[in-house]
Amino acid sequence: MQAPPQPAAAIVRILDALSAQHPGATTELQYRNAFELLVATILSAQCTDVRVNMVTPGLFERYSDPPSLARATPEEVEPLIRSTGFFRSKARALVGMARALTDEHAGRVPACLEQLVVLPGVGRKTANVVLGHALGVPGLPVDRHVLRVTNRLGIARGDDPVAVERQLCGALPADRWTSASDTLILHGRRICKPRPLCDRCAARADCHYRNTRPEPPGGSRATARRRTAR
Ligand code: SF4
Repeated sequence: MQAPPQPAAAIVRILDALSAQHPGATTELQYRNAFELLVATILSAQCTDVRVNMVTPGLFERYSDPPSLARATPEEVEPLIRSTGFFRSKARALVGMARALTDEHAGRVPACLEQLVVLPGVGRKTANVVLGHALGVPGLPVDRHVLRVTNRLGIARGDDPVAVERQLCGALPADRWTSASDTLILHGRRICKPRPLCDRCAARADCHYRNTRPEPPGGSRATARRRTAR
């Protein structure tokens, strides 16, 4: 059953509860500037942040800025990023992105969604990650975790990342967009997994998914009720 839409006040309350459960949630990618975060986020497609963080120090030692990466060939980059998977297409994207930054943006990462999403290898999610974390521009990246958690909670509907981004941005002040995404991603990784750990979830009282599913016999909700009744 699809969740009825939560009112904006409930969305804020739910995000408050999840933020308290995951204080300081932020991207786990390691970076020193917008260029490094852009590279790391491109590499994180179909790869863990831990693996990306193992690869990027060597990559950044060799190619420390857009011009140096722009002078490389994809074949030179491939061995440095091989363990992140899809390394041939990622190497092409990285070099193409660096050449575009060098040729069209004076070697800088533009602080503009429309200019970021036309760079090779950069989609809307990657652009929002970089905007929100490294460029001080509000952005709300939507990944599979955000889609799963928000639909279960009923704070967004649908599996279209752009539509979910718009719903969340419409309900939250801009200065909460990036932290809301970070919190939802962390919650999806640690608690609201494909098999969710609802009893450990700070937002369970407001969760459509949890509250519309039959409880397993002797489940913790029954246990909690018995404890309350004592
Ligand atoms: S109560 Fe369960 S399904 Fe709902 S958000 Fe929390 S972990 Fe996910």
